[in-house]
Amino acid sequence: MIVTIDGPAGSGKSSTAKALSRNINWFYLDSGALYRTWTLLYLMGGGDEQAFKDVIDIHDVEMKVEGTDVFPVLNGEEVGNEIRAQHISENVSRVAAMDRVRERVNAEMRRLVKKHNFVADGRDLGSVVFPEADVKFFMTANLEERAQRRFREMHKAGQKADLDQIRDNIKDRDEADSSRATAPLIKPEGAINIDTTGLSFDEQVEKIEQILREKLNLS
Ligand code: C5P
Repeated sequence: MIVTIDGPAGSGKSSTAKALSRNINWFYLDSGALYRTWTLLYLMGGGDEQAFKDVIDIHDVEMKVEGTDVFPVLNGEEVGNEIRAQHISENVSRVAAMDRVRERVNAEMRRLVKKHNFVADGRDLGSVVFPEADVKFFMTANLEERAQRRFREMHKAGQKADLDQIRDNIKDRDEADSSRATAPLIKPEGAINIDTTGLSFDEQVEKIEQILREKLNLS
């Protein structure tokens, strides 16, 4: 089974999907982490778009499942926190707009859901990758709140964070992700809208979990 949570950057999808998957004993699938890992590879190659496109098919970006953990590996090596850094965020929308990268990421996600139940978050999961998902959510929050959340998240993780820079980056990514030709960020058909502005983390998890348990008849 698959539950999808799509929405713009910093809307709280990832943290909510993570908590939710833990509460219902499912796995969590972070599709953004796959795009970020491809971006790491792109930057390792010097950020030359054509050179990168030429080598996409000789590299592997996969999600490894170990116990209850699901994490991205690049050519078999765990990538860790590096994919959360600002320079990755600044380049990821460009890489995510490449059709071949999207095909590779989508194939990897479809492979995974054959084996386990997932709560997955991203931009196009309910619309393109898993249109047949069991339950779909679309999560939003206003820009300021999303920037503040991302700032606190990075700060907590001990990463360099600048609120103005984060706000600008989120705005730019929203624009790029929503206007790209392939699989733009949209509210998927049949998705339940969740606006988390003003909700605490516990409140947003509780809200989604309640809907989910009811829809899927989970006890
Ligand atoms: O979710 P996160 O903010 O980590 O995603 C990073 C980027 O990956 C997004 O800004 C978007 O460009 C891309 N992405 C995407 N489709 C998805 C998930 C992420 O294009 N399903």
